[in-house]
Amino acid sequence: MERTFILLKPDCVQRRLMGQVIARFEQKGLNVIALKMLTITPDLAKQHYAEHVQKGWYPTLETFITGGPVVAAVIEGLEVIRVVREMLGATNGLNAAPGTIRGDYSSSRQMNLVHGSDGPEAAAREIAIYFTPAEICDYTPTITPWMRASDET
Ligand code: ADP
Ligand code: MG
Repeated sequence: MERTFILLKPDCVQRRLMGQVIARFEQKGLNVIALKMLTITPDLAKQHYAEHVQKGWYPTLETFITGGPVVAAVIEGLEVIRVVREMLGATNGLNAAPGTIRGDYSSSRQMNLVHGSDGPEAAAREIAIYFTPAEICDYTPTITPWMRASDET
């Protein structure tokens, strides 16, 4: 079982799409095991987006991501890091395939609604930035036997 970090960005909250986005992950059969609303500070933005801080467009990303509340979450599932990235679609909403979250809801390179970790190292790093171990609710949904066969682990 794998864990990934997602962030519903300020555009997602402002556009009242939080419920629809979380519903997609739930409908897929993934488990939401941690959830919180917060407003990202410039320091936290630099920590989260450390790989982009030196880029020319980083200041606009920081202004965007600190511009309103966000929702941070941890999602658990088989191969969940890859599955969530594929559900998000390409970074630029204009290029994201129809049927993906960004493809269905975003027409922007920057305002693409949801962040998802891009690999196991990023997932572990990002989960630790936003959540303490005590804030992660480890549980097995009772529906699990009807979501996949018992040998699919
Ligand atoms: P992803 O979120 O798909 O992993 P990146 O890691 O490349 O994409 O970029 C991080 C975030 O920065 C994007 O999701 C988007 O919100 C924003 N972004 C990416 N490219 C640009 C750009 N050229 N100008 C402004 N913002 C950008
Ligand atoms: Mg990225």
